[in-house]
Amino acid sequence: MESQVLLDLKDVNKVFGQNHVLKHINLQIERGKFITFLGPSGCGKTTLLRSIAGFYTVDQGEIWIDGKMVNDLPPYKRGTPMVFQEYALFPHMTVFDNVAYGLDMQKRPEAEVQQRVQAALAQVKLTGLEHRYPHEMSGGQQQRVAMARALVMNSPIILLDEPLSNLDAKLREEVRVELRNIQQELGLTVIYVTHDQLEALSMSDYIVVFNKGKIDQYGTPHEIYYKPRTRYVADFIGTTNFIEAAVERQEGDQAAVAYGQGRRAVLKTDESWAANQRVILSIRPESLRLNPPEEYAFRMKGKVKSSMFLGEKERYFILDDEGKEWIVDAYDVGQTTYDGEVAFGAAADKIHIIPDDGDQA
Ligand code: ATP
Repeated sequence: MESQVLLDLKDVNKVFGQNHVLKHINLQIERGKFITFLGPSGCGKTTLLRSIAGFYTVDQGEIWIDGKMVNDLPPYKRGTPMVFQEYALFPHMTVFDNVAYGLDMQKRPEAEVQQRVQAALAQVKLTGLEHRYPHEMSGGQQQRVAMARALVMNSPIILLDEPLSNLDAKLREEVRVELRNIQQELGLTVIYVTHDQLEALSMSDYIVVFNKGKIDQYGTPHEIYYKPRTRYVADFIGTTNFIEAAVERQEGDQAAVAYGQGRRAVLKTDESWAANQRVILSIRPESLRLNPPEEYAFRMKGKVKSSMFLGEKERYFILDDEGKEWIVDAYDVGQTTYDGEVAFGAAADKIHIIPDDGDQA
């Protein structure tokens, strides 16, 4: 049977001068998935993508594509074309010529080029538009041409480096949907680099979160959002509230924690914690409720400082009675306005426990 693992990175390291840019990267990527490399500027996403494509040689470790070690292969022999933001398409070339470009470079016979370009255009549903120029097409169509250009090379993996960053917000959203549709329809394996968390959450099967050249977490968008493994991941993805705590004891999936000035709660957890371990509790604004029901494990009191209308929700900024600021989202917009002294809290399974490693995004 064909192995499901298409890309296997084994202890990959890359150094630029004194700068250790990729540190012990181990990652396995399955066929047919949409993977996002996510992280702030300078964390090594592009360097890893370029190393996979063969534009950089790595200093240590192995890169396997489809069961073959490719460390010593040049880019054109790896079959991993990259689509860049700046020059996704050649503006002075027709759609046909844009798609044919890679095959022309390889000096393939004319009849083969004709047949393969037409097949790739049919796959992305652009048959009939061969003679157009990029500026005569919508952003979504242009993205399809860029995909066809990668498809025509029969590439096992398509690498996309922030391909949408030059588009305005509305077009970006449209092209995002388009790109995900093509990937799913054709069962492509795509690696997509972005620093935009929403883009990553909405498009990916799996997200790889980078932190200064290391992988902090590899998981589904839900896991990354609701079960961040580190404080850095929780902080980088979306908005959250943190509070320092200590695990007093654990029985099965129940952990008794102490937080604030003498407060206690029994929380649900998937992990094992040592007695007296210092931890951080991460609680998303949408997981907190104002006037919480009696049975909520986690409870605080505070004063509303300000609020912000965000359409489907009102965001409240609350100062608790121990001097800490909280962000709480209320979805009963237009029914209740909260003011002055309020109680707020979260259910036991909505609070995520993270080791206190002192690292922040
Ligand atoms: P961005 O989103 O800004 O591109 P990134 O996460 O993709 O960020 P990289 O471009 O991979 O980050 O850069 C990681 C680090 O490696 C940075 O410190 C950068 O300055 C350095 N770097 C990248 N390319 C080179 C190079 N060719 N020579 C020397 N240093 C480099």
